[in-house]
Formats: sequence, C-alpha cells, structure tokens
Amino acid sequence: MKKKAISLAACIFLFVCLPALAFAQQLRDSLLSSGLIAAEQRAAERFMEGQQTGSNLRNLSSSNFDVSYYRCEWEIDPNVRFIKGEVTSYFTIGIATDTIIFDLSDTLTVDSIRYHGSLLSFQRLPGDGLRINFPGILNAGTKDSVSVYYNGVPRRPGGNAFVQTSHAGVPIIWTLSEPFGAKEWWPCKNGLDDKADSVDILVTTPSAYRASSNGVIAEENSDGISRTVHFKHRYPMATYLLGLAVTNYVVIKDSVQIAGKQMPLMLTTYPEYAGNAFKINNNARTAFSAFNRLFGDYPFAREQYGQTAWSQGGGMEHQTNSFITTTDLGLISHELGHQWFGDRITCGSWHDIWLNEGFATYAQSICYESIDLNFFRAERQYYRDIITAQPAGSVWVDDTTNFNSIFSARLSYYKGSYLLHMLRWKLGDSVFLQTPCYNTNLRLPRTSSGIWKQKAERI
Ligand SMILES: [Zn+2]
Repeated sequence: MKKKAISLAACIFLFVCLPALAFAQQLRDSLLSSGLIAAEQRAAERFMEGQQTGSNLRNLSSSNFDVSYYRCEWEIDPNVRFIKGEVTSYFTIGIATDTIIFDLSDTLTVDSIRYHGSLLSFQRLPGDGLRINFPGILNAGTKDSVSVYYNGVPRRPGGNAFVQTSHAGVPIIWTLSEPFGAKEWWPCKNGLDDKADSVDILVTTPSAYRASSNGVIAEENSDGISRTVHFKHRYPMATYLLGLAVTNYVVIKDSVQIAGKQMPLMLTTYPEYAGNAFKINNNARTAFSAFNRLFGDYPFAREQYGQTAWSQGGGMEHQTNSFITTTDLGLISHELGHQWFGDRITCGSWHDIWLNEGFATYAQSICYESIDLNFFRAERQYYRDIITAQPAGSVWVDDTTNFNSIFSARLSYYKGSYLLHMLRWKLGDSVFLQTPCYNTNLRLPRTSSGIWKQKAERI
C-alpha cells in the first residue's frame, strides 16, 4: 500500500509541478475552493434570514430523551419542491416524563404521530418545536419509539436547507442542513448534542430519478414507475450531516485501499459529468493516501466513501457522502478531511467551528504537502497574507447568530488551519502527530476548544 501511494504521489508531482502555468492555475483554483466556504456561508445566511422571518430559535428539542436511531422514509419528486415523509425515532428517556419535543419547521404539516399502533396528541410550539404527548409517564431508562408523519413545502427564505434547481435542464432537489437547517425538512434534534448511533434512509422517487444519501445502499427497487433506494448507515452522526439529493444520477463504482482492504468509493453524478469520474476518484485516492497515514484509517471504513454532484458552489461534508461541485483536489481533500474532523469528531458548539473548518483546511494543505511542497508553501503564504491583512480576531466564535462570524474564511478556516501549522512548527512533527490534532482514535464524538486544548497540553 505504501509503495503504491508513493508511486502515485510521484506521478502526480510530476504532472502538476512541472508546468508553471498549471501550477498557478491550480493554486488559484484550489485556494478559491473558497467556493466551499461560500457554500457553507450561504447555508447559514439563509437560515439567519429565516430567523428574521419567523423561526427565531435554532433548537427547541428537549434534553429529556436521547435518540439512538432514526428511520427516515421520504417521497421526493425533484420536479416539485415538496417533501412527504415518515420519521421514526428510537430513543431512551433520560428523565421521567410524559412529553418530548422535537425540532420541526412550523411550515411543515404534521399529519399524525403514531405510538404502539395508536395516535398521539401533539402541539406545535413557537420557534419550530413539536411537542409529543405520551399517554402516561415514561420512566428514566425507558427505550421506546415514535413515528411522525408529515408533509409540506420547506420554508423559504431559510430555504437553503432544501433546494430545488436544475442541471442540463433536469430538475434536482438537494439538502444542506449545516448549521441549523435539518429541522427545515425533517423532525429531529437539530442541535449538536445528540448523535443517533445509526440511521436508515428510504427515498422513493419517480423511476427516472435516483436518490443519494449517507452510508451504503442496502436495497434498491424500481417497478418502472417509482424507485426506492434504501441507505443504511451504522455510525453515530449529527443531524446536520444527513444529506439527501435527487435527480437523474448515474452511479460509478470504484474503490480505495484502506488498511490493506479495498473499500468502495462511489461517485453519484450527473450523466453530463460522468467523464470526470476518473479525475474525481483519483483525487480522492490521493487525499485518502495522505490522511490514512497521518490521521488513522478513514473513520467509516466498514461502509464506503461517496461523492455526489450538486449545484451549490463548493462542497458539503455529508457523512460518508460529500456533495461536491468540481474535480478540484483542494475541494475533494477538504471535504474528505472533514470525515475525520467535523463528522467523526464534531465541534461541541458553533463557537468551536474552527475545530471542523480549521482542521479540514489544514487537511487540505497536508494533502498538497504530500505531493507538492512548493504548492503547500504557496498556499500557506496565501493564508498568512489574508489572516494578517486585518488585526485581531479569534478562531473561537463570539457571536453564533452572525453567519459571517461562524463561517469566517479568515478566522474559522485560514487562521484555524494556521493555528495547527504553528503548533506543528513549535512542537515538531513527532510530537505534533501525537496530539488530538491527528489522533482521531481518541474517542471524542464531540469536542470543544477547551477539551481539545487540555488534551493537546497533556501530550
Ligand atoms: Zn469545510
């Protein structure tokens, strides 16, 4: 595996480094994978617009229950911006209660809520809450489940979470829930504090279309009129990382070597983009090669890694299935880096977003370092110039109601990555590689700047 990786890196080095023009172009394209920053900013921006027009709370769900599993069944036709679904949540009661509260946009209609074959009463709460009333007290430790049947047109503005657009004249619907948008299209816990351990996602579409989502495809059926694809994911996942897209996708299967075994590498793309498959998958393999060696093996290796075409500028690190726009190594490596930093380990609050974005941006740099030192140095210089163009500014976000603060390219992305680069320079590679910067085998499903600092200082 190592030998193969070295020879691949050498080939890429020769390919990308020799022509100066190509170098400059690649630098510009990659660094302006700021498209991905813009994508993440836009999602937050639309959400903030939504806040101003009605939904003024991000997360009303109650903390008296812990979700272990979601089964999501959705019907989506990309010709119509509409969702119909049934979401069943399995949970454990933390404190004895006869009510629990989920987050769900109040623009969506709840048809019914079923519990052990009976209907439950419920109330919609101001600020997108859905309170469910059980027939009696559920004691602490009780394991139970409830199903919410709902439908409607997701809110707009605030609507970047569930977008309808087109490519080559064909309709597409895709979702982007980071940071607060999951509740805009499905009933869930919208915060960062409750990762379900597993999820099943079943999406029915007209047969001309196909869904893409998290995990692996367990089953696919089509009767010529409709098609249902069943995705299965068996790792803990924050709700903002559940992604869904539907259009006339083609699926191109490939593989990447992880821990001596071939793991599926799946590209779900537009027919008109299918010719890019080799470049996209090869760039992903280049990034895998660097990251597996430095960060530990890909954290979802029992399943697969997918990349799905969408029409938003940039990318989004949906768990096991990044949504991407281009063939650019910078974008592909950034989103893959998030699978370790952001997905496997998730920031504890949006104040700590640099733990997602600074790490993914540095992962992007490390990928370049593995194949092209000149490019790596130029990229560092570029980031340094932007960071120092203004005085002050913290990687820790003071104001999480301001999307520009959360997704600040200068602070959350570039300065976050430079903080890591500075530590590496101070500590040296051998010590730095022992810190939680790299050692994702530490069992940290969520982390914060403070926890990370403590762990780093113990090394
Ligand atoms: Zn990112």
